[in-house]
Formats: sequence, C-alpha cells, structure tokens
Amino acid sequence: MIIDIRDEYHNHIEEAAKIIEKGGLVGMPTETVYGLAANAFDEQAVASIFEIKGRPQDNPLIVHVDGILMARELGELSEKAQVLAAEFWPGPLTMVVKSTGRVPVSVNAGLDTVGLRMPDCDAALSLITAAGVPIAAPSANKSGSPSPTTAAHVAADFEDSLTVLDAGECRIGLESTVIDMTREVPVILRPGAVTQEMIAACIGEVDCANAFTPFEGDKPAAPGMKYRHYAPKADMTVVEGQPASVTEAIKYLYDKDLKKGEKPLVLALQENKRYYGRRDLAVTGSIRDASETAKNIYALLRRADEEGYSKIYFEAVPKCGIGFAVMNRVYKAAAYNIVKV
Ligand code: AMP
Ligand code: MG
Repeated sequence: MIIDIRDEYHNHIEEAAKIIEKGGLVGMPTETVYGLAANAFDEQAVASIFEIKGRPQDNPLIVHVDGILMARELGELSEKAQVLAAEFWPGPLTMVVKSTGRVPVSVNAGLDTVGLRMPDCDAALSLITAAGVPIAAPSANKSGSPSPTTAAHVAADFEDSLTVLDAGECRIGLESTVIDMTREVPVILRPGAVTQEMIAACIGEVDCANAFTPFEGDKPAAPGMKYRHYAPKADMTVVEGQPASVTEAIKYLYDKDLKKGEKPLVLALQENKRYYGRRDLAVTGSIRDASETAKNIYALLRRADEEGYSKIYFEAVPKCGIGFAVMNRVYKAAAYNIVKV
C-alpha cells in the first residue's frame, strides 16, 4: 500500500514507526533510492528483508542512523570517519567501520564491520527517530532488478504486501557511495554522488576499487560487488566514444535489430537526440552534467521493460562527477556488454 506522506506527515511517520517496532518492513524514501526498512536490532525482521528481496545472505545491509550519536553506538568511528561524517552527513555516503557488536551479525553478513549512513531525507530521519532504533535497509527492489526511485517502483516489486511511504521521486537516484574506513588508506567500494575527489579533499589519500570491470574470483572487497545488479530484462549495450561515432554505431545496431524483429530503444543524451530521427528514444540527461541521468536511469530501465523493449542502447556519459557512478551502474546493468567506438 502506497501512503503519500506529503500530507498528514507526522501521523504517517508514527504509523510506519509502529510497523518497524513490531518487527515489520516499510518502504522508506531516501535521497538516493527507496529502501526496504526494518529494525536493525531485530534479527527476525532483518531475516525477512533477505527473504522478500531474494537477497543472498552474504550481501550485508546498510544501517541507517539519525545522527552521529546513534552511529557511535553501532560502529567505531576513526578520526577520518568523523571528518567525513561532519562533511557529508546527512548525505549519500555509507561508511564501513568496525562494528561494536550491537547490530546482529546477520545484518553484516557475518562480517565484523558495519555499513553506516545518515540519509539526507526528512521522512527517513523522522522514521528512524520515531522508531528509536537504527534502520537496516537495502534498496527496496527484488534482488538483481533496477533500484526503485519512486514509491510505485517499490509497489511494483512487492505488490500490496508492503506499506510504502511516498515522498516523491528520489533526488539523487543512485545508491550511496560506500567507503571502507577500516583500511589504512580508505577504499571506495561503490561509487556514488559523494565522489573520490570530494572525499580526498577532506581526508587526503583514498583508493577506489575497480568500478568498471566485472568481479572475478571469490573474495570481493564488498560482498555485493560479485552479484549482477540493476539489470533490466532487455538486452542492454553501453556505447561509448566520440559522440558522432556513438550515434552512428547505435543507429547501425538499432536498424539491424529492427530487421531481425527485435524492439530496440535508444537511451540518448539530450544533445544527440536529433540524430536519431524516428527511432524509439528516451532522453537520459545532458552530456554536461550526469546528475539528470543519475536521477532518471533506473526509472528508464524499468519503463523499457514495461514497454516490452528487447534491446537497449545506452549513450555513455563522461566518467566524471556522478557520471563515474552512473557508468559503474550501467556497466553492471548491461552485464559489461560495452561497444567502444
Ligand atoms: P544495497 O543495500 O542494496 O544498496 O547494498 C549495500 C551494499 O553496501 C552492499 O552490497 C555492500 O557492498 C555494502 N556494504 C554494506 N555493509 C558493508 C560491510 N559491512 N562491509 C562491506 N560492504 C558493505
Ligand atoms: Mg541494492
């Protein structure tokens, strides 16, 4: 059931907090993507997150807090972690720190660390405060499908079985940056809106785990990195290179698909839209700023599936700013099916 919380805000938050207190799950808005929220201290509630998402047990959940005090109860914040919290919380940064043992290990997939984040979203913060407990919340989608950026996306994956707090479209649209603060030199495990440059400007040296090649072997830096993610049902290809070559390549591949009876869709940049004529197309954003593309990409992938497209061609965005995270996600969504021209 979707509940629009933009009116009667406090009543709806109180009701949702009661569900959390009783061990239930709630679809929770955040500035990144919608989360599937449960009391992080309640092992059974946490188990039900894994179950209804179909999430592998070795993929830990992020724990959402309403401030630095709650964070300190759950994890040991180093000096650098405190600097990052002061700079980027509330905001799209998850810090992996040593667990104090307060959160059950099922949340952390058996690790001795915990991923902590203070979201920059009034509804999420009010819900945590009202429930009086930290909230474990992965993205509120079935495992493997694109993350939800609207309440309707959450409802589509979990039907009527779930109460979803609707606070509108997510402002950022991509999952948080995840950084491992337990290393001498912190490592970005998953890129996001808080970039490597932004972090380096605060704490100096910071590494980034490989964001653009598939994980091989069996011990990834972050457990979630080994799973296929964010993927539409359609067969997706990322095309990158000089803009003129990209549009030419996509037109060629698109027309070949049409002859084979496929139903292709171009996910194009605003600047290139006019080159595609009457071909089926949706605009992701602008080449100058990837934040629109970040905000739109998951909704576009979901819509492509709903409308029965069998092929998707995605025009690459520059890998700078949030474009770095956008490309990390679309590579995964396309199962590393990349055409360089
Ligand atoms: P999701 O909740 O779907 O956005 O996924 C959360 C991601 O955060 C996981 O896939 C992990 O990569 C990362 N994460 C959360 N907690 C930890 C942790 N304790 N250690 C390493 N990675 C973590
Ligand atoms: Mg997820």
